[in-house]
Amino acid sequence: MADQTSGAGLAAASDIPSLDRLLNAEALRPALATHGRTQVVAALRRDLEALRKRALDGGVPRHELDAAAVAARTSAALDEAAQPRLRAVYNLTGTVLHTNLGRALLPDEAVASVLRALTTPANLEFDLDTGGRGDRDDLIDDLLCELTGAEAATVVNNNAAAVLLMLNALADRREVVVSRGELVEIGGAFRIPDIMKRAGAKLVEVGTTNRTHAADYENAIGPRTAMLMKVHCSNYAVTGFTKSVGVADVAALAHARGLPATVDLGSGTLVDLTQFGLPKEDTVRETIAAGADLVTFSGDKLLGGPQAGLLVGRADLIRKIKKNPLKRALRVGKLTLAALEPVLQLYRAPEFLAQRLTTLRLLTRPMRDIQPQAERLRGMLAHAVGRSYAVEAVPMFSQIGSGALPIDQLPSYGLAVRYAGSGRPGRHLDRLETLLRRLPVPVIGRIADDALWLDLRCLEDRDEAAFAAQLAEPLA
Ligand SMILES: *Cc1c(COP(=O)(O)O)cnc(C)c1O
Repeated sequence: MADQTSGAGLAAASDIPSLDRLLNAEALRPALATHGRTQVVAALRRDLEALRKRALDGGVPRHELDAAAVAARTSAALDEAAQPRLRAVYNLTGTVLHTNLGRALLPDEAVASVLRALTTPANLEFDLDTGGRGDRDDLIDDLLCELTGAEAATVVNNNAAAVLLMLNALADRREVVVSRGELVEIGGAFRIPDIMKRAGAKLVEVGTTNRTHAADYENAIGPRTAMLMKVHCSNYAVTGFTKSVGVADVAALAHARGLPATVDLGSGTLVDLTQFGLPKEDTVRETIAAGADLVTFSGDKLLGGPQAGLLVGRADLIRKIKKNPLKRALRVGKLTLAALEPVLQLYRAPEFLAQRLTTLRLLTRPMRDIQPQAERLRGMLAHAVGRSYAVEAVPMFSQIGSGALPIDQLPSYGLAVRYAGSGRPGRHLDRLETLLRRLPVPVIGRIADDALWLDLRCLEDRDEAAFAAQLAEPLA
């Protein structure tokens, strides 16, 4: 065996250095200092095992056995394993509130508050006036009431949890009347009928997919009815020959029979978006004013805060909800509250909101900023993708995302990359998409109509230099 291998510069299994020798080798010092002995020993064992196997299978080039070579492989493997799995990406999909990319980005005020909460003790459930035990909801319920006109408020982990909790607390083993046109499925397996079942409530569907009348609700009310509920058609629109009953009318019907009317508002905006040139969406305040007894909505959709589910409404109903054991199971952590409070504070000064609330700043980013940016970056991207592709700066449409205003689109600008060769472009666009995804900070676009689209709405000017730096060299 030794004869076969040594002549060709190949090493035999017996030439492989020992673990102890390697651990004492100068070359392994940096890896030991960075990753610690436990991980280095495990990585060395894996490396030596692979070398042994190859040596027995026919031989390993001698230079691969050098301590320096072993150290380089070990360090590379450990550095790779230490890379965070949750990584920053550029969201150039054109969907501002992209659920798979983490929805709302938080403003600086929220970041500072979270950092403080992470590193110092705080009065999470401690009443600083009395020195007694406090309620974590106290940190935000006054603000939520002020901003929505509701009597009381509470907060849980997300809006799905808010709906589950509301139904279980107010409709366990009783009936909830919902229009067939509002039995929505949100991405990620949130379906109103399923949540209803899990909450112990019985769904009573009324009307048809496209038309529901007041009489449909009225006829469905019986001795076991717990509430009339409306659900925002977040990610679809019923158009054509349609009829639905508004919150005010559903509330009036419910109240006439001594029942509450509840609304799952989904995105839940706190201000009239038309003042920012965005499409009209009913605000939480308007929904409460129209007579809703309880409204649930998300913290990280249009509101622009952290993942959370907010419940606002009548004090007696909120009290009942807070007594439900599920509230404890679904409660938010201090980081959520630390992020939520400063975001809600921003809403007190609506005149600054479009600048200070990141979500709104992105949604209202003017074309006069986006278009020149596309033109600035076009040549650089063209160079990076090479001659097989053609890059153009073109107008396109962004979406708000997360089920907010599903059919409304925002005029935007960006880069469209098309395959310049002959033949079908699909494979080439997929390859390009993969290369962009493999950049140190992955760039996420979308492929449609035989082009890769990079919508620049969410690439704010302050991030442009870092983005461009990644494209200075040709891809691949
Ligand atoms: C988004 C949405 C939900 C779920 O909210 P999460 O905060 O994602 O849990 C529930 N209902 C409606 C109508 C929604 O739009």
